[in-house]
Amino acid sequence: MNSLLAELTAAGRRPKETALRSLRETGKKGVGCFPIYVPEEIIHAAGLLPIGLWGGQTEFKQADKYLQSFCCSIMRANVELGIKGVYKDLAAVIITAYCDTLRAVLNNWPAAVPGLKAIPMVYPQNRLEPAALEYMLEKFRTLQKELESISGIEATPDRLADSLALYEKYRAGMREFTQLARSHPLTVDVRLRHNVVKAAYYMDKAVYTEKLLALNQWLASLPEEKGGIPVIVTGLLAEPESFLALFAENGLFFAGDDLAQESRQFRVAARPDGSPLERIARRFLDLRGCTFFCDPLKTRGELLIQMARDTGAQGIVVCMYKFCDPEEFDYPVYKEEIEAAGLPLLYLEIEQRMDGVEQLRTRIQSFAETLRS
Ligand code: SF4
Repeated sequence: MNSLLAELTAAGRRPKETALRSLRETGKKGVGCFPIYVPEEIIHAAGLLPIGLWGGQTEFKQADKYLQSFCCSIMRANVELGIKGVYKDLAAVIITAYCDTLRAVLNNWPAAVPGLKAIPMVYPQNRLEPAALEYMLEKFRTLQKELESISGIEATPDRLADSLALYEKYRAGMREFTQLARSHPLTVDVRLRHNVVKAAYYMDKAVYTEKLLALNQWLASLPEEKGGIPVIVTGLLAEPESFLALFAENGLFFAGDDLAQESRQFRVAARPDGSPLERIARRFLDLRGCTFFCDPLKTRGELLIQMARDTGAQGIVVCMYKFCDPEEFDYPVYKEEIEAAGLPLLYLEIEQRMDGVEQLRTRIQSFAETLRS
């Protein structure tokens, strides 16, 4: 079973290799999914393979022709990799429009990567209005048609229902995995936890889910472990591994996460009623506390505090992704609430590609010492 953990960890560590293998093994055409949320069930039901595009370690040489240098590095990396031909095996990419940077990518993609079709995906700003569901359904139907024209396979209601059922099984498995990682922080340290979660972006969901459930079963059979100080981590993502290693070396582990790349993807289950497309849409409408979906009630602080109480976490770590405006705008609101609740808070500014982590090491070390004392 340790080999299963190693296999999924390696799959998360090597996105391109894993994605190419999945394309080969399934024989499907791939569709790249820009962050943050894409209705993967529709892609799956149309007989295509969704592949997550979450940036990567690359030097920016050509992307700056299309994006300002102050745009976030994930998007600069995605554009750079697109120009370099790294996505040449994909049939299309879906570009969401959560922020100004993503809108700029969407506008400039045809010029930057002319051979690769970009399909836009726009979500309603105010998701609390009844019209939001109708709006999303209309967008989803347009997306569905685009995808069907790529694969030549109709995403019938039955196919959509099957894909949704598979994705619900996957999401339930992920929720269970994050709980098991909390009770087994020595076997599943923060780096392994991250890579197992990330591997799902590059594998066929049926194959991944089968392996994940077997891993969960094994973890559940092991005695619980006491592995250091539990914290909650929040933000867009927590990478690279050299950054995650700082938590492990200072005896911190993730009791839970509120990362857009991780638990925000699967913490909400679909409602049981409605057509498959409605259930897929409502799941997005039901997500609360996420910066990237307008949240006029500003529930993120409350959610983080509750998460810390439920899991016994002793502090909250903010992984602020450099130049991510939506995340930066949210911070002052939840910071005040977390401090008022008496929970220690650590703010860290990160990027996917960092030349050194020494400053971060010192800050995480002193936070761990404060929590310990
Ligand atoms: S600024 Fe933030 S939300 Fe926008 S693309 Fe970059 S990371 Fe995503």
